[in-house]
Amino acid sequence: MYAKTHEILTREAAKLAGVDEKLIPNLCFGAKSPDLVPDYSYKVYLTYRGRLRVRKTRVKHHEPDPSLLKKYVVEARHRWLKGSREDAAKLVGRILHYVGDSAIISPSIDDDLHDQMERKCSRINPRQVIENLNLFKPIGKRETLKVLMDSLEKGPASSALEAVKRTLDTSFSIISSILSSPTAPRRFRELGDRCYEYFKGRKNLTLFLSLFLIILPCINLILLSLKLSFAIALASLIFIIIPSMIAGISGMIMYRSRDMNTALYSARRAYGSLPWIVIGMVISGLIIFSIGHTVVLTLLIPEIPMTVIIYHRLFKISEWKRIKDEIDWFKWE
Ligand SMILES: [Zn+2]
Repeated sequence: MYAKTHEILTREAAKLAGVDEKLIPNLCFGAKSPDLVPDYSYKVYLTYRGRLRVRKTRVKHHEPDPSLLKKYVVEARHRWLKGSREDAAKLVGRILHYVGDSAIISPSIDDDLHDQMERKCSRINPRQVIENLNLFKPIGKRETLKVLMDSLEKGPASSALEAVKRTLDTSFSIISSILSSPTAPRRFRELGDRCYEYFKGRKNLTLFLSLFLIILPCINLILLSLKLSFAIALASLIFIIIPSMIAGISGMIMYRSRDMNTALYSARRAYGSLPWIVIGMVISGLIIFSIGHTVVLTLLIPEIPMTVIIYHRLFKISEWKRIKDEIDWFKWE
């Protein structure tokens, strides 16, 4: 789409969403930015001579990379929660550029049709389609990402009018969700309250498990560095040390927390590091097994049942399953 079209559609969607007027220039600036400062993706590949190289490619606008846009959505919301309102609005605008372009057929598929569609889009006055829009305000991260993915999956629109309508619909959803109140709405708040109470009722268990996760890798490190140099011992155990420490320290913060926001955020961090403990345990385990230090290997094994216990005793409640992905989307005070 033309820069002007991006700007007009972004401004219209922002007005429909009732965004603070002062942020509209930031949204529009962002909506024009990917044509001026493109996004790149990096891929590592092997040359036929067996060398590793990195390939830098421009992210396509008409067939954008969904994972990049998902990352932008989460990042924009984090900026908004931190109070960086202008920066959040600029990044939202950047997402909207891709939303608009994805509704137009790529010039690499049909150059003439692409040019024709863009020209037609630039002639449509968004005011004329407002009555036929299908405006939806998502609540929370899951719903917002779903709206974005559904819009991208539809691919190029069949007509310029359709492209404009879809861009307005999706832009409205994204703006009104990301730039909405940081406070969790009631239905999430109630789930959060129940999780918070649940964690509070398991404080001693949390403390015990956290200490275990912090101390065990340290013992392993000391034992292994008695046999190997400290640097080699650390290099072989780093894969288990990092996630185990993150989970342990997050658990300690959970244990000491006096407010819901800290408790839920650290619970989310601890929960997120559990799979990495298992993965790290396998990698470090294989390294130590190949070196042949079975004693240290045996001492690593308790990490696995501990991870399972943490999952079962702290996180296996339906309330947690329903809000775990929404925690970093809101503030819980
Ligand atoms: Zn573009």
